[in-house]
Amino acid sequence: MWKMGRAISKRNKTSRLLRAELLLRPIISASASWWLEEEEEKGLEMEGDRVKDEALRLIGVFEVLPRLVVFDLDYTLWPFYCEMRSKWEVPRLYREAYSILHALNDKGIELAIASRSPTPDIANTFLNKLGIQSMFLAKEIFSSWTHKTEHFEGIHRRTGVPFESMLFFDDEYRNIDSVSRMGVTSILVDNGVNLRELRIGLEKFAEKSKQQENNEKST
Ligand SMILES: [Mg+2]
Repeated sequence: MWKMGRAISKRNKTSRLLRAELLLRPIISASASWWLEEEEEKGLEMEGDRVKDEALRLIGVFEVLPRLVVFDLDYTLWPFYCEMRSKWEVPRLYREAYSILHALNDKGIELAIASRSPTPDIANTFLNKLGIQSMFLAKEIFSSWTHKTEHFEGIHRRTGVPFESMLFFDDEYRNIDSVSRMGVTSILVDNGVNLRELRIGLEKFAEKSKQQENNEKST
């Protein structure tokens, strides 16, 4: 009898514990996911600071720098075609793009956009949502059969910067090909703008400027 009483009280205790666990489970899991989100955000912030420091260091290495850096949007600054998205969505940039834009801006290098997107309204909404709209001195966003030569003529008209002082990043070879014929140093990106592409772009720009200087001296 005594043994049975003990077994019943043990069972009650276990079920009380189980009930408490079931009640607490959503609270524990909510605070754990909040903590994980906080940690993830802190991690991304630290990663962003590291990328920006490295970009600033890279820019500091070169004596000759572009006056204006022009970016394509789709698959260069962000990993999607914006015409396939709704303007109500929350966009994101490629992981290193945001810090690179800020590093260039901090160093006094002007920024511009050349995009053939057929939905400039969505592109502009996304630039606003990302808080980077005001960083660009010129934005040429319109669909066109010319491979961005029209876009660059517009950028030149708006900024007064000569094509030889511009650096351009794009993920489509046909744009790179036609814009580089105008005299712009143009870099084909494979997986969005990142530190590696920035270094390649700055190197190519410096080399080209040196060549031009030598050509001018010899003539
Ligand atoms: Mg693109």
